[in-house]
Amino acid sequence: MHEFDLIKRYFQKPAAGSVKIGVGDDAAVLAVPPGYELVVTTDTLVSGVHFFADVSPATLGHKALAVNLSDLAAMGAQPAWFTLALTLSQADPEWVDAFAQGLFLLAESSGIALVGGDTTQGPLSITITAMGLVPQGQALTRGGAQTGDLVFVSGTIGDAAQALADLKKWGQTPTRLRARLECPTPRLALGQALRGLATACIDVSDGLVQDLGHILAASGRGAKINLSPFLSGDDYELLFTAREHSLADIMAAAVACECVVTPIGHIQAEPGLHLIDAQGQEYQPEEPGFQHFSEP
Ligand code: ADP
Ligand code: MG
Repeated sequence: MHEFDLIKRYFQKPAAGSVKIGVGDDAAVLAVPPGYELVVTTDTLVSGVHFFADVSPATLGHKALAVNLSDLAAMGAQPAWFTLALTLSQADPEWVDAFAQGLFLLAESSGIALVGGDTTQGPLSITITAMGLVPQGQALTRGGAQTGDLVFVSGTIGDAAQALADLKKWGQTPTRLRARLECPTPRLALGQALRGLATACIDVSDGLVQDLGHILAASGRGAKINLSPFLSGDDYELLFTAREHSLADIMAAAVACECVVTPIGHIQAEPGLHLIDAQGQEYQPEEPGFQHFSEP
């Protein structure tokens, strides 16, 4: 199957609504509604780095989009459009078909339209650029945490890291944990509900300690976190801060979004992160978080 047949068969959808020109021209033309700002994010998944080469193509299609949607969620954005740069070692129609099914299932349920991309031959890798919309000036950022704020995390932290550790060590993991690793649920409704409530927000992709560190650095603050030692990474949950008086509103938003949200600590004026276990003892995290190009 050739490049153009493949694009047409699996990725070309008719332009509709805000998509004035979609797949099939030199570039897409998109209508941004007045009063909104465009939020843009890119994430790449590389075979052997972000996923096992033999992962099911449908779950890979899901995850490639999910990790980008998670970034839109962390900004409080509503998903609108995405592009897909696909590098394939070969054009296996069965593989591409399953990949596209996983991708479009999540795209349709999230209200995001594929509007363009690129298709090339080489070692398997997937780059998605996702675009979303927020009302002017309302995007959530990493930089707004204030002294005394509560720190919250959505969902459960550690399932994906546990699944990855199991798979590396034993080659297997319980189905529920595998799903948390391969099919994360981006917290889109929660992210949008947090507009005007959260003072700072980030998605937990590289590990809670490292990602909280980004909020603290951007906000010029420190934090005290009460959690027993935990594994984290690939969680795609939201980590956010809010004023203490917003607690009831945050919990109501979480319930409305069918999402568990747990307060885990406080923002402090002094820089530095203090992790406190169930016995009240401070401890150091075993692994601070994932980084490409880090020393072995
Ligand atoms: P160009 O040579 O101008 O880069 P291409 O031949 O790469 O154009 O792409 C033709 C059209 O198909 C463009 O609209 C492009 O956005 C779209 N396209 C290419 N690959 C993909 C893909 N994997 N998913 C969605 N759209 C794609
Ligand atoms: Mg091209």
